[in-house]
Formats: sequence, structure tokens, C-alpha cells
Amino acid sequence: MKNEEISNIKQLLSTEKKIVIVPHKNPDGDAIGSTLGLYHYLLKSNHQVHVIAPNDYPHFLKWMPDENKVLKYDTQKAESDELISNADIIFTLDFNALNRTGNMETALAESSGIKIMIDHHQAPEDYALYTYSDVSMSSTCEMVYHFIDMLGDKNLIDANIAPCLYAGIMTDTGSFRFPSTTSHTHRIIAELIDKGAKNSDIHNNIYDTNSYHRLQLLGCALTNLKVLPEHRTAFITLSQDELNKYNYKKGDTEGIVNYGLSLENIVLAAIFIEDKQEGIIKISLRSKGEFSVNDMSRTHFNGGGHINAAGGRSELSLSKTVEKFISILPSYNKALNNE
Ligand code: 5GP
Ligand code: MN
Repeated sequence: MKNEEISNIKQLLSTEKKIVIVPHKNPDGDAIGSTLGLYHYLLKSNHQVHVIAPNDYPHFLKWMPDENKVLKYDTQKAESDELISNADIIFTLDFNALNRTGNMETALAESSGIKIMIDHHQAPEDYALYTYSDVSMSSTCEMVYHFIDMLGDKNLIDANIAPCLYAGIMTDTGSFRFPSTTSHTHRIIAELIDKGAKNSDIHNNIYDTNSYHRLQLLGCALTNLKVLPEHRTAFITLSQDELNKYNYKKGDTEGIVNYGLSLENIVLAAIFIEDKQEGIIKISLRSKGEFSVNDMSRTHFNGGGHINAAGGRSELSLSKTVEKFISILPSYNKALNNE
């Protein structure tokens, strides 16, 4: 961010404000961690702050300080609409386009609150007065750390803020292993531990709270794994019937796509998950090296994200979506085999 923007924001936050903070729909660890981290920081500066998520999120994120105060737009619409329309400032975190908030889009677009975007996805939309976008950042949580630092308030990071930011950096870097993880990321993580993030507890809360059903669903997904060695691609499908059989709960499929990418020589991994209620196939794409799943998702699957991790959707049936995916692979063969 430019110095002038920082000083404008500092000025803006120098008096008490009504603030709403919004993550993307189906929030993940970085979305909830960054919104709650920023929430605790702004609360300490005596603002009136609310986090409003478009919808619910997995139970393995439901341990962060004040997580129980997060409003869910889909079930608390009237209260949320009022807060959004009366807000002086609206922070939008961990997404690049207002439509990623689903049904909240109209209320956000219509609010006269000053919008501030903090995000690390490719191709940010131009809806905010202040846009802090950096696609090289590991996570929005790392950016919230920098944001607090730029405002000169690093000393305010405490045992409420630190675990939230730690959690989002950890989840978006695949536990500090993706190429977006820098020595600087590790320095921030070290500082967050010093400020009260209990690192081992956080890993435990997020990764070691599986249900038996979730592991059974993982077993089903791995049984469905298909490998296309000529395209250096692996993909997994999960039908609605399979999800039902294993008592699917929100978050149960998180991370499964990465198993495809763990195969030797595989550069591209995908998972196709049927959602009968929404009438779509939810797609997650992951890659290694220079192969851009962001481009693939934008071009073919109505989505986007980052070079090595992107999401999308298809309105075709599960089998037709897979057929489409296989049919486009030859056009990427050169890029896939260059890795
Ligand atoms: P996931 O596959 O876990 O849903 O998403 C992978 C990454 O891509 C995440 O950073 C997520 O926020 C982003 N992403 C998922 N769907 C979309 C989309 O439709 N548009 C954009 N721009 N990013 C997405
Ligand atoms: Mn993120």
C-alpha cells in the first residue's frame, strides 16, 4: 500500500467507527483467521466491530477467540443487512471479487461504507476505496499482520490476534510447505508464537479433530482416484450419494485434493464434488511449479484463485464434468510436461 493510503486509513481509524469484516463464502482457515485476527485488533482500538460470514464453516475452525460471535449472513440476514448498511467501514478479506460472498453481494455493493480489501488472490476487482492486494503473499493472514505493522501497531498483537493469524498462515501454506512460504513468513510465525499462538494446539485443533466418518470418506475418495500419467494428472470424484453415505459435514473434503498431487510425477490434481442442493459440481484444482490452475479455472470452470490452488464450478453432471476436464488436458500437455 502507498504511504498516503496508510496514513488515510490511520486517520480514518483514529476515531470510533462502525466496522464490518467479511470473508468469502465457504470460509476456510485463512478467511476466518484473517477476519477474526483483524476483528480483535480493531476491537482493541475501541471500534464497534462485527465479522459477518456469508455462511457457516467447518467445526475445525470453531476454536478461535470470539469465533462464536461471527454472524452468518444466510441465517442472520436481517441483523447482518442492518450492520452492513450502517457500517462506516467494510473490510473484505481473502477474496478478490464481491460475487465470492454469494448472497451478500448486493448488500455489500449498496452499502455506502468505505471498503478496504485485503487479499492475495489473482486479478482483484476494483470495488474498494483502498485495495491492499499482493498475490505473492502466502495468505491474507500474513497480510493482516503487515497491515497492523504498517499502521504502527505491531505491539497490539496479543494472544487473541496471534492464534487467528497463525491458523490462516498455517492452512494456506499447507503447514508451511507451499512455495509461497518465505523466510519472512517463518519470522512472522515465530513472532506470533511469542505473542501467544500455541502452535501445537492449533495444529491439533485443525488437523487432528477428524471424525471416523471423515476418514471413511477419505478412503472412498482415494478409491476413486484416477491417474492419467500421459498428462501428469490425477483426479478424484465424490458423488452426492458417496457424501451422504459417509455422513458428510462441511469441511470433510478439505485437503483431499492434495493426495493426487502427492503422487510422484503428478503436476495437476483435481477433485470434483457433487452438490445436489446447489445443482453444481464444486471443483478444486492444485498444481506444482509454473502450471497455472488459476488460468485453467478461469478459462474452463468459472472460478480462479492462485497459480497453484484454484477453485471453480460446473453445471454439467459429475460424469460430463470429468469428461470435459479430460477433454481439455491435451491442450495443456506442453505446459504439463514442461514441469
Ligand atoms: P478451494 O479449491 O480450496 O475451494 O480454493 C482454492 C483457492 O482458490 C482458495 O484460495 C480459494 O479462495 C480460491 N478460489 C476458490 N474458488 C474461487 C473462485 O471461484 N474464484 C476465485 N478468484 N478464487 C477462488
Ligand atoms: Mn487465503
